[in-house]
Formats: sequence, structure tokens, C-alpha cells
Amino acid sequence: MKYDRWRKRMVDDQIVGRGITDMAAIAAMERVPRHLFVPDALVDSAYGDHPLPIGEGQTISQPYIIAEMTQALHLDEHDRVLEIGTGSGYQAAVLAEIVFRVYTIERNKTLFHKTRKLFDDLKYYNIVTKYGDGTQGWPGESPFDAIIVTAGGENIPQPLIDQLGMGGRLVMPVGGAMIQELILLEKNVRGVSVSSLGGCRFVKLIGRHGWQED
Ligand code: SAM
Repeated sequence: MKYDRWRKRMVDDQIVGRGITDMAAIAAMERVPRHLFVPDALVDSAYGDHPLPIGEGQTISQPYIIAEMTQALHLDEHDRVLEIGTGSGYQAAVLAEIVFRVYTIERNKTLFHKTRKLFDDLKYYNIVTKYGDGTQGWPGESPFDAIIVTAGGENIPQPLIDQLGMGGRLVMPVGGAMIQELILLEKNVRGVSVSSLGGCRFVKLIGRHGWQED
């Protein structure tokens, strides 16, 4: 099938070819049918080297950035991961191929309902969805082994740092409204350490601990 071929080429050229070495991330991206996570009119562009619009002014990220963020989380099969910004559901599906359970929060009602149905249709039973402001995290399910924020803010929301377990990893685009740096925060007994994985460009994280709505 052509999508299987295009997916294999995407992984070879854009993921492995650009230096991603995390076998779990690579295997997950070989499996998840990305073309089912984009609007019908864009299915033939799903495996291209770029983000795509998914409606509601939002985007599905470029395949490489999905792989880079997934790799940075150093995931284990027993992990419970929180994602902020469900969007198309593609990143959550990649995580769900690797870990025990994914909790994902979306603030846009249309995307929330559409993607929840897609998870059901594709039988991603280990993804738990929530409609709401992800900058406040999901206190009732914390602590998390890893947290991934797929929208950009000026700072890492404090509730997310608080809800990260000991030894936990968090990745998030941090910076201005147009351009950010991908930040990796790690929590250990000595406190938190922060490093940069390089520049990136994400839509705005909007919420109580993020940007205000336009
Ligand atoms: N992970 C997504 C994917 O795989 O398609 C990327 C989605 S897009 C880059 C970012 C998403 O974050 C949008 O769907 C947007 O509505 C959502 N978002 C922005 N602020 C949010 C917040 N405070 N809580 C939850 N979702 C938020």
C-alpha cells in the first residue's frame, strides 16, 4: 500500500536519516498511520517533511519534531505520560505505542471530540482524553513519568513541574509567540535541570498559565 511505503520513506529519510536513534520512537512512527490523523484533503501530504493544518487554526507537527520530542522523553514501557495539546492525536498515538498510558488534554472542543472519536476508531484504548486547560495539568492523575507540551508558552507552567514525578522528564517549546526553543526539564533529588534542544515554532499554548486568548 502506498501509505506504508511513504511512511517507511518518512522514517528512513526524515527520522533515522537526521540522527534520531531512539528505537522505540522509530518503531512507533513506523507503525502509526499518520495519514489518518490529517484532514481528508491532505492525506497525500501526510508523510511530507512539514507540519500541516488540522483545522481550528491548529497544526499537526512536522514528523521530525515529533520524533525529537519523543526521543527526549527517554520513555519506558511502564511510563504514564501527560500530553498538553491533543490536536490531531498523532503525537499521543506515537506515545501510546511506547508507554503504558497516555493522558492528553485539549482546549479546543471541536478538535477534542473529533480526535477522541479517532482514538476509539483506531482502538487506542491506552489514551485517556480530557477537555480543558492543560496548563493546569491533571492533578488527579499525577505524578507523571513524562510530560510533553505541544504548544508554545513564555514559561513552563508551574503546575506541570509540580505534577512531574521524581526522575521525570518534560519537553516544551518555550519563548515568544512566533518562535521558541525546545526545552527539556528533568526532575531529580537535587531539583530541576533545564537544557535546550534547539529552535522550534509552535502554535500558542493558551490558558491560565500560558498566553491569553487573542
Ligand atoms: N500534539 C498535537 C498533534 O499531534 O497533532 C499537536 C497539536 S497543535 C501543535 C497544539 C494544540 O494545543 C492545539 O490543538 C491547541 O488547541 C492545543 N492547546 C493550546 N493551548 C492549550 C491548553 N492550554 N490546553 C490544552 N490544549 C491546548
